[in-house]
Amino acid sequence: MDTSAHRLNANLARAQPSATYRMMDRVAARRSSGASVFSLSAGEPDFDTPEHIREAAIEAIRAGHTRYTQVAGMRSLREAVAEKFQRENGLDVGWQDTIVCSGGKQVIYNALAATLDEGDEVIVPAPYWVSYPEMVALCGARAVVVPCGIEGRFKLTPQALCKAIGPRTRWLILNSPSNPSGAVYTRDELAALADVLLAHPHVLVLSDDIYEHLIFDGAAFFTIAQVEPRLACRTLTMNGVSKAYAMTGWRIGYGTGPRWLLDAMEKLQGQQTSGASSISQHAALAALSGPQDFIGKTREVFEHRRSLVVDALNAAPGLQCEIPGGAFYAFASCMGLIGKITAAGTVLKTDEDVARALLDEASVAVVQGSAFGLAPYIRIAYALDDDTLVEACHAIQGFCRSLSDPNNVDA
Ligand code: GLU
Repeated sequence: MDTSAHRLNANLARAQPSATYRMMDRVAARRSSGASVFSLSAGEPDFDTPEHIREAAIEAIRAGHTRYTQVAGMRSLREAVAEKFQRENGLDVGWQDTIVCSGGKQVIYNALAATLDEGDEVIVPAPYWVSYPEMVALCGARAVVVPCGIEGRFKLTPQALCKAIGPRTRWLILNSPSNPSGAVYTRDELAALADVLLAHPHVLVLSDDIYEHLIFDGAAFFTIAQVEPRLACRTLTMNGVSKAYAMTGWRIGYGTGPRWLLDAMEKLQGQQTSGASSISQHAALAALSGPQDFIGKTREVFEHRRSLVVDALNAAPGLQCEIPGGAFYAFASCMGLIGKITAAGTVLKTDEDVARALLDEASVAVVQGSAFGLAPYIRIAYALDDDTLVEACHAIQGFCRSLSDPNNVDA
């Protein structure tokens, strides 16, 4: 068929596909052809959704809760969301100040699409989750990427924020604990960023708190609208059940923010996907209003895995990994591998080469740091059981040891 008469939307054509999903697809393709792969690429808990949540969904089906819900979510779920924001984050929120969407991604995309015009700017500290800049591009706006390297523990400083703000800035995106670095902002660090934002009333703040409960070393979680209540009127605080309750496939995200913004997001969603799945909303209601012990247990498991993985990565020649404060990712510098040659003869010029060779030659799937805006790094998701993680780390170590150095002729 001649497709020359057709073209894609220009914003879509400019945006990149999701690098995390790309790697997950590669893993699935290999597995379906019979190969075994250690998948350290997907950012999703490996636990089953707790039993009482699954039962609530089954009960919802039996009870016939199988029809459309309100676009912004069932009233009972929105009340539970408001209660969660009050209980855990100290936010002064009523149910009308909330919205429920089909996954955290839709909360973020709705907010950006509802507000951005051509030429607007969004400040995205790097390393960032792969989808932020692409969503901004889809909306025809420009991501202003602010590099936040290891020297500042991957965190945005007030000085860098101040420099990045311009007349076209519409949003700052914050994500703590961070995907991919695991960096966690303290109360004081958020307060210092808030001070800068108070001087720039035209900037909205999107706080992606999806890893809220995966925070280690006894540290406390803070979100910016809680630290600086004067910012609440221009902050979208978003979260979801995916990571906290091992519910990635149920697709429920939620948020709270100023009513004008929530109304615009609801209008957009009402013309797009309508309300989220009624069954999933009932499951999310059980998650938010039922027993919360699952959260503490999984945090302990991830904290244990973090040490296991970080120690193993630091024992691999050429890799260097700081101890992340939260989430379930290790973000390791692979600078020491760049320029080396693999057993199959590939020269590792970039972190993308490293990720590809790890998959091809060691059957380990990771995601390259460049997809997160900081190179040369690799992101390792440690959402696997201990035995598999140990095996996968051995495979990474073996790969690193097998590399030859073209500058060292004796090697
Ligand atoms: N957020 C997870 C990750 O970074 C899931 C995949 C995605 O949506 O990017 O791996």
